[in-house]
Parts: sequence; C-alpha cells; structure tokens
Amino acid sequence: MKAVVYTGESKISVEDRPKPVILDPTDAIVRVLHTTICGTDLHILQGHVSTCTPGRILGHEGVGMIDSLGADVTNFTVGQIVVISCITSCGACYYCQRKMPSQCETGGWILGNKIDGTQAEYVRIPHAPLSLHVLPESIDQKVAVTLSDTVPTSYECGILNGDIQPGSTVVIIGTGPIGLTILQMARKLFSPSMTAVVGRGHPRLETATSMGADHTFSVLDGQDSAVSSALSVTQERGYDVVIEAVGTPQSFEIAQALVGAGGTIASLGVFGESCELHLEKLWNRNICLRTRLIDAVSTPDILNMVKTGSIDPHFLISHNFSFDDIHNAYEAFGEPSKHGALKVAVTMPEIVMNGSS
Ligand SMILES: [Zn+2]
Ligand SMILES: [Zn+2]
Repeated sequence: MKAVVYTGESKISVEDRPKPVILDPTDAIVRVLHTTICGTDLHILQGHVSTCTPGRILGHEGVGMIDSLGADVTNFTVGQIVVISCITSCGACYYCQRKMPSQCETGGWILGNKIDGTQAEYVRIPHAPLSLHVLPESIDQKVAVTLSDTVPTSYECGILNGDIQPGSTVVIIGTGPIGLTILQMARKLFSPSMTAVVGRGHPRLETATSMGADHTFSVLDGQDSAVSSALSVTQERGYDVVIEAVGTPQSFEIAQALVGAGGTIASLGVFGESCELHLEKLWNRNICLRTRLIDAVSTPDILNMVKTGSIDPHFLISHNFSFDDIHNAYEAFGEPSKHGALKVAVTMPEIVMNGSS
C-alpha cells in the first residue's frame, strides 16, 4: 500500500509499505477513504515531536471503512464507515477510567506518532472499540475528517475548558481551523454577549467577521495596540473567557493581558518553549488557567451536533486533493496564508476513480 512516511529531514516521502494486519484481538484494520493534515504533523516535520521517529507513517485524522476486526471487537462490523479518533483509548487504564484517554497508558496520541498513522491506504487501529465511531450517513465523509481532531479539540480544549456561559464576553486568540471552529461553536451553542478575535492576517480576520465575530484585532498593527483596542470594547474590564489557540509566548502574553477579573484562560496551543506567567498582575484577579490535550470523549456528542445541524464544520475544508497529490496538500497546508488553506481533505485514489465522493 502507499503511505506518507516521515523521513526525519523535515519532509515526507510516499512509500510502498505492507498492508497492516491484526496484532491484538482489540485491533481493527481500516481502509482509509479520506485523511487530512494537522498542524501537529508539521511539528513532527520540524523535529519538535521526539516520540515520532523517522520511518513512521504520519496522520492521526481520517474517515475509513472497516476492513477487518480482531476477535474482541464486537461493536463494529466489516464495511461500516467510521471516524478514526486522533486519541486511542483502552477504556480500562487509570486515566481512561477517569475520562482522560489523552493520557491512556497504552493509547493517547499514538497514531502517526508512536505507531503508524492514517496517511496511508490502510491503518491498524488498536483499542478499536473506543477509538472509532460510526459515521452517520447524513454527514459528508470528507467533512468528517475534521471530527477526528479539529472539532472535538475545539470543543473540549477551547469551549468546555473556557467555561463559556450565556452572556459571556469571549475573545479567541488565533484564526486557524481551531480558532474559527471555536468561534462558530461559541456563537451557535452559547449565546455569548460579545465575541472578539485576535489574529494576524486580515483575510482570516475577515473570515472571522463573516462568521459573526463582533470585533477583530490584528497583531500586525502592533501587539500593544491590538491589546488596548481589544480591552477598550470591554470598558477595560477584560474578557470573561480567553481562548488561546496559537501556542507562542506572544499569544500567551496577550491572553493574560485580556483576561478580566474572574475570567478563564483556556490555553490549547502546542507550546514549544516556556512562557512567562504574570502572577504579579494576576494573583488577586480570581482567574483560572486551564490546559488540556484532547481526550476525544466528546466525539459522540460532536457527531450528534453535526448530524442535527447545531454546528457545521463544512467551512473548514478549504482544499481537496487526491492522495497522489499529497505533496501539494502539505504545501498548501504548510503555507496557509499563501493558499488560503484551513483544512485540506485528502482522498484515496479508488474513491476519486469511482466518483462516489
Ligand atoms: Zn490533528
Ligand atoms: Zn487507557
């Protein structure tokens, strides 16, 4: 089978690999129909993820068809269309029992990291009973690649960790796929009294405005000026909810400057370096700071929200590529401002030829 392999030299190569086989009775082999690229894949290419070694098949997001099942997997049948969760959950370990599969002792984020992933024609999914979800027929299969990671991450690490209440003032720092998904979810599900977005490039900020953001601010106009403008629309009180979806010392500074008394910072950026925590300013402000790696425990709820139209992730798929064209998919996703990319759907060749998608 064809697979996208991390070479260890900040690039990918498409190689022929043997089709994976069932190793444990709780495994499933899934024929991948659609996959996508994540910011985390780019972190791997930059050498930031030490657990991912050269030779690894990349990818932790995708939609596929059950090809074969281990003897202990009884909740799926061959031929079913499933969403592959980016988090593998055994369901039984100390952390899984505490609803934290992100920390699962034999799972967590292993796909496309510690074991071979979804950017291939087939993938082996360990702990399949809790790590796959049947995709309802009414949900577009390509759009559903966003349900592996982007949408549940936005919900768990942004919305739930931000503790948004009806009437909250909400500021989102970051205009990537996750920042924009959080904006949509906050507005559609929680009736905030005001939403603001802090970003860089104006095209993405215009997208945020078109999605209903009340105010947008660009750090390209100067960080201090973006912060003071963002505070001025709160009568200098700061925001009830600050969602930091970038993961740099600068974005963490902005988050701390924008949180109001009694407010919450939900930080979900992937940080590669240490940041300053300004307790000299925050110690008496009753704030809460939360971090989280997605646990993907909300995926069944997310599937229902998409099925019933409470949220609509269609806007996330900005580009479509066939798997043969995966180098261009990486190029488009790696330079989003040049290509206007959010998420790129990558479709396996058989599906393109059948014209069934
Ligand atoms: Zn991802
Ligand atoms: Zn576990």
